[in-house]
Amino acid sequence: MQRNFLETYHPHTSEENIHEAEIDRMCSSNGQSLPVSYLHLSHHSPVMAIWLADVPKQMLELFDEVAVTVVLQRYPEYWMIHNEVHVRITHLPVSDSLRELRITHINALVKVAGVVTRRGQVYPQMKLVHFNCLKCGAVLGPYVQNDQTEVKIKQCIECQSTGLFAINHEQTVYRNYQTLNLQESPGSVPAGRVPRAKEVVLLADLVDSVRGCRCCWWAGDGRRWGRHPRPRGAASPPRLAPVPQARVRVDHTPPLPL
Ligand SMILES: [Zn+2]
Repeated sequence: MQRNFLETYHPHTSEENIHEAEIDRMCSSNGQSLPVSYLHLSHHSPVMAIWLADVPKQMLELFDEVAVTVVLQRYPEYWMIHNEVHVRITHLPVSDSLRELRITHINALVKVAGVVTRRGQVYPQMKLVHFNCLKCGAVLGPYVQNDQTEVKIKQCIECQSTGLFAINHEQTVYRNYQTLNLQESPGSVPAGRVPRAKEVVLLADLVDSVRGCRCCWWAGDGRRWGRHPRPRGAASPPRLAPVPQARVRVDHTPPLPL
């Protein structure tokens, strides 16, 4: 269904398939982010749009898979540049303020605006983990690292040893990870109140894509709003940055000077 949407959808105003044009634009700039309008999606398939608003994490994972398929169909060699494509949702009609975020927003798709006050360093985050069994030398894995808990293995499947395992850094797949602070813009803070801020996680190609901007899209899983455990040490690959899926997109507002 999503595939059909990406391949054939065109809004009333033009006969051109807008997603083909977006894919061309993305690929010509060697990009990894495919913008998809929430309004177009809800016009094409209201049910899918509701699911996306209610369970964005699972839906976006599916969308990303479909997007890779569609992109590779059009540009079969694109896997040599990127093996992942991320669908970025734009034009979400409802906007929330940072001050209004409550537990009802947890795990839902939300759009908030704010000023970026701090940008963290870029760290690698483990995505698919391989381990070496230090007893028999077998390479175990890949294990998918989820957002919540660190992958641990109890027993080697080759030699049944419960002994020491080391992360195999050559075969483990990492992705980029960065946090930034998003603060209420001064104009929207009620008089006499302190501006509120949230920590936002940027993954993959969104890292360093947000500069001094006024408007961000944040579709997030809110379970860990607040402080995250920091990845340990920038020099050695960190064991884990356990983070929610969070997607930030700059949209329509001209960037402020840095
Ligand atoms: Zn072993």
